[in-house]
Amino acid sequence: MNSNNPERTYFLIKKSKVQSLLNNLYNEYKLFVPVEEEEVVDFRRYEVDGNFTLEFTNTLLPPKGLFLPQQETLFTFNYERDISIEEKIEVSRRIIVGIRPCDSKSLTILDEVFKDVNEDVYYLQKRNNTLLIGLGCTNPQIYCFCSSLEIDPGKDISVDIFLTDLEDSYLVSVNTERGQLLIKDFPEYFEKAGEDEITRALEIQSPAREGFSVGFDKKDTEVFMDVEKIFEHPVWEELAETCLGCGICTYLCSTCHCFDITDELTKNEGRRFRCWDSCQFFSFTNMASGHNPRPDRKERIRQRFMHKLSYFVSRYGCIACVGCGRCLKYCPVDIDITRVIGTITNE
Ligand code: SF4
Ligand code: SF4
Repeated sequence: MNSNNPERTYFLIKKSKVQSLLNNLYNEYKLFVPVEEEEVVDFRRYEVDGNFTLEFTNTLLPPKGLFLPQQETLFTFNYERDISIEEKIEVSRRIIVGIRPCDSKSLTILDEVFKDVNEDVYYLQKRNNTLLIGLGCTNPQIYCFCSSLEIDPGKDISVDIFLTDLEDSYLVSVNTERGQLLIKDFPEYFEKAGEDEITRALEIQSPAREGFSVGFDKKDTEVFMDVEKIFEHPVWEELAETCLGCGICTYLCSTCHCFDITDELTKNEGRRFRCWDSCQFFSFTNMASGHNPRPDRKERIRQRFMHKLSYFVSRYGCIACVGCGRCLKYCPVDIDITRVIGTITNE
């Protein structure tokens, strides 16, 4: 979580110097970079002289997994004589390079959840120790609709450092004190940007805001706040007939964050771990008594949309969607949140 610096400063870094900078950062930080393997890009741990790409549309998996891992040991215990418990909280300093504006916004949304009522130290510790280097979009995918949610694909002041591609170099916009310190630690890689480069970056950023083929008017989503009116809308039944209940939309979603907690025991020791779960599964709400408040697909798919567009807004004041487009792209039966919003708001 970043404390914004009102004095934004601008530098340039040549693309040819990025790998050397990463090699140096590797000595001091746990580094995560986008890596392409078999045409899929995902964030991976960086090793010296390792592969990385900053030429990609977006990662398959959102960066939420670097803060809320798919499976995470919370603590281990041993009860041979006295019970002893060891918490597993990650404390290393980390950097994520190449995070897109939609995905960095999703982290600010997840922050609301994990600092609410009972602070989640496992998530928050990682968040506080992680410096974010964002990367502007110049060419959104056909599934992206971040601008419908008032996210600017060409500019991001919520990250510590933000890169705009200027062909042979990046404009480096420094938003926070933490970002300033990093630049100061590695001055040999950066040169001050002039007005020309800043103007060029603005010109590059502008078209990115207009290249969207899907979306909606955010104001129209206010209809979702009238829960009684749309709770029994026929669209839920129609979606339930198509949806396979596979949960891909929730696993790949930047903002979905449901998890299950399990104890795993061997003879004298064990661990408590959590792993991603999904509201699209029957077992997610199945109770020990056998009662399930969401027994059918209709209730489960309704929950997914109502949680994002209504219940989350009531609790935290923002929609739990950043328009990353992953659910549109990967749903095997083409269920599309923008069309669902359109169906309901057009009536
Ligand atoms: S609902 Fe879809 S578009 Fe919105 S954040 Fe989740 S995966 Fe991205
Ligand atoms: S990805 Fe599509 S089919 Fe799978 S649960 Fe989500 S909406 Fe249903």
